[in-house]
Amino acid sequence: MLDADLVSVLACPYDGAALTYATHTRLLTCQQCRGEFEVRQRIPVLVPELARQSAGNSHPRTTSSRATPDLPEAGG
Ligand SMILES: [Zn+2]
Repeated sequence: MLDADLVSVLACPYDGAALTYATHTRLLTCQQCRGEFEVRQRIPVLVPELARQSAGNSHPRTTSSRATPDLPEAGG
């Protein structure tokens, strides 16, 4: 159960749109991106990092050698 005043001040962490709390699902639904957020212990979890896993791994790998297709001409 969430307070109506609390829901009115909540905003989507993605686009900042208003959220609607559904009592039957106990989820906060964004009206813009239709994102759903869980409510734990009367505290809405609006952290995007928890919603979806972030995979930002970039290896500093330099590729200097370039593979060029060197096909011999087949004369028949
Ligand atoms: Zn949204």
